[in-house]
Amino acid sequence: MSRSIDLAVIPGDGIGQEVVAQGLKVLNAVLPQDVKLETKEYDLGAQRWHRTGDTLPDAELEALKNHDAILLGAIGDPSVPSGVLERGLLLKLRFAFDHFINLRPSKLFPNTATPLAGRPDIDFVVVREGTEGPYTGNGGSLRTGTPAEVATEVSVNTAYGVERVVRDAFERAAARPRKKLTLVHKNNVLVYAGHLWKNTFDRIAAEYPQVSTDYLHVDAATIFFVTQPERFDVIVTDNLFGDILTDLAAAVTGGIGLAASGNINPTGAFPSMFEPVHGSAPDIAGQGKADPTATILSVALLLRHLGYDTEAARIEDAVSADLAERDGGTARTTDEIGDALAVRVAS
Ligand code: ATP
Ligand code: MG
Repeated sequence: MSRSIDLAVIPGDGIGQEVVAQGLKVLNAVLPQDVKLETKEYDLGAQRWHRTGDTLPDAELEALKNHDAILLGAIGDPSVPSGVLERGLLLKLRFAFDHFINLRPSKLFPNTATPLAGRPDIDFVVVREGTEGPYTGNGGSLRTGTPAEVATEVSVNTAYGVERVVRDAFERAAARPRKKLTLVHKNNVLVYAGHLWKNTFDRIAAEYPQVSTDYLHVDAATIFFVTQPERFDVIVTDNLFGDILTDLAAAVTGGIGLAASGNINPTGAFPSMFEPVHGSAPDIAGQGKADPTATILSVALLLRHLGYDTEAARIEDAVSADLAERDGGTARTTDEIGDALAVRVAS
C-alpha cells in the first residue's frame, strides 16, 4: 500500500467549500503519522465560469490525471445556465476518467430521520453504471418546436460496458458478509438492453457461486426500497435507473446530509472522484448550517478505494457514534460537526 496520498480537491460552489474543509479536517485527523498527505486545490465551478468562461480547461484536466484521487464538494449555481457545468465539467470529467462505476452506499445510521420506522437493518450499496445508458448524448429532435416534434434519447448499452460494471458488482458483493447481488432493470419492456444486462449477469453469476443473485424490475425495486429495504445488499443497475434509485435510497436512509458517493474507475488508470450526493445548496451557503457528514463519509469511500480500510472504518464508526449521541437539541454548525468527528477518529 502506498504510504502517501496525493489528493486533488475541488471545493466548488456554495456549501461545497464549507463541507470540503471539514472532510479534509477529518482526513488529516484519521491518517497515521507515516502517511504523507498532499493536497492541491482546483478552482473550478460557477465562480470560475463567471470570471473566465472556463468550465474544465484541458490543462487542468491533464493535471488532475496525476493525482491519486479527487475530492469534490459541489458544483453548480442558479446563476449558471443549466447544463453548462454539468456537461462542461462533471460529465466531461466522468467520461475523460472513464468513471464507469458510480457507487452509492445507503446505511441507516442511529438517530437519523427515516420515514421507515422500525427498520434498523438498512445497509446496501448501489453500483450504478456511469458512462452508458441514456447519458451518452445520442438522440435528436425532428421538427423541433412544432406540434409534430419527435424527440429520441437513445440508451446505449455495450457488452463491454455492461460486463465491467456487473463484474465489479459481483466483486463487491463477494466481499460483503451477506454476499447478495440484485440486478435491477426493466427487461420486460426494454428488451434489447434488458436482455444484454440479464444475460451478462447470469453468465458472470456462474463464476461467483458464493454470491446469491436476484432480479427485479425497476418499478418493483422502488416498492421494495420502501417496504423491505433490508432485503438489499448490493444492487447493480444502469445509469438512469441508478440515478433515480439512489435518490430514493438517500431519502429512506436519513436524507441528503448523509449520502456519499464515488465516481470510480476501478482499473486505476485514472483517479476516482468522491463527493457528497447533495448539491451546492445556495439557500444555506455561507451560514455554517450545512451538514458535512456526507462529505466526510465520501472521504471514507475515498480511503477504502485507496486501500486504507482501517481508516475508512474509523470514519464510519465515528459518524455512527456521533449520530447516536446527537440529541436533536441545538443544531451544531458545520464546523462543530467536523471538529467532533475529527476528535473521534483521532482517538
Ligand atoms: P443540484 O442541482 O446541485 O443537485 P439541488 O438544488 O438539487 O442542487 P441541493 O443543493 O442538494 O439540491 O439542495 C437541496 C436541499 O437540501 C436544499 O434545501 C439544501 O439546503 C438542502 N441540503 C443539501 N445539502 C445539505 C447539507 N449538506 N446539509 C444540510 N442541508 C442540505
Ligand atoms: Mg439535485
